[in-house]
Amino acid sequence: LNISNDLIDKVKYDPQGLVTAIIQDYRDGRVLMVAYMNRESLAKTIETGQTYFYSRSRQTLWHKGETSGHVQYVKDLEIDCDGDALLFQVEQVGVACHEGLRSCFRSPDLEAQEGDRKNQDLEAEKSIDSIDREKNKEKRDIGLVLTGLSQVIADRQKEMPEGSYTTYLFTKGQDKILKKIGEEAAEVIIASKNHANEEIIYESCDFLYHLLVLLREHNIELSDLAQELDKRR
Ligand code: AMP
Ligand code: ZN
Ligand code: ZN
Ligand code: ZN
Repeated sequence: LNISNDLIDKVKYDPQGLVTAIIQDYRDGRVLMVAYMNRESLAKTIETGQTYFYSRSRQTLWHKGETSGHVQYVKDLEIDCDGDALLFQVEQVGVACHEGLRSCFRSPDLEAQEGDRKNQDLEAEKSIDSIDREKNKEKRDIGLVLTGLSQVIADRQKEMPEGSYTTYLFTKGQDKILKKIGEEAAEVIIASKNHANEEIIYESCDFLYHLLVLLREHNIELSDLAQELDKRR
């Protein structure tokens, strides 16, 4: 990253010493997140080529990705006309949002529906999977993956371990599962309209997972689906 330190003095910081940082995916311009920088975090960002922010809630320097591994490599940087905002083009590792989605920004309808904490935990787990997926691209056989996941879901139903999201779905029952399938289908639609492939992959997996839970609830095996699909060929 070839940015001069002069920039640090050009910025017009607010009375708290902060400047708004808009973080954009360098590939397609998708806005990933908005956060704040102070002089120190901007200097660290320029020095290291990775984003550092000032966390207002924790009141501390914050290296994005320090716990999640979802760091951001700065490809380019622009300053607003009057110096009170910065625009960063980044290469995002994993996902920007700590709730597991590619971007912190989502449709308000979606936000209203995604209230429950357990669901957010699930999305966060998925985000780690998205890094692993890059590494394992060639090795994975979707048939095996779905069969394996379906087996895990069956085990959860039998054992109902505490703290498991799958247990939670089975406890809530069919209406909750159906509601989730509707929500996840809507998220696939939104992701498709955004032309955001990473998000389409994510939301398709959310959708498939909840569909597998529904099939389990009805004691339908994946092999029953295989038979039906074979019939249609
Ligand atoms: P990370 O920097 O990704 O390791 O995340 C560390 C913590 O920072 C998370 O637990 C969240 O509290 C917060 N955080 C991470 N990413 C975001 C984000 N995009 N927007 C708001 N808070 C975030
Ligand atoms: Zn401005
Ligand atoms: Zn977020
Ligand atoms: Zn989802």
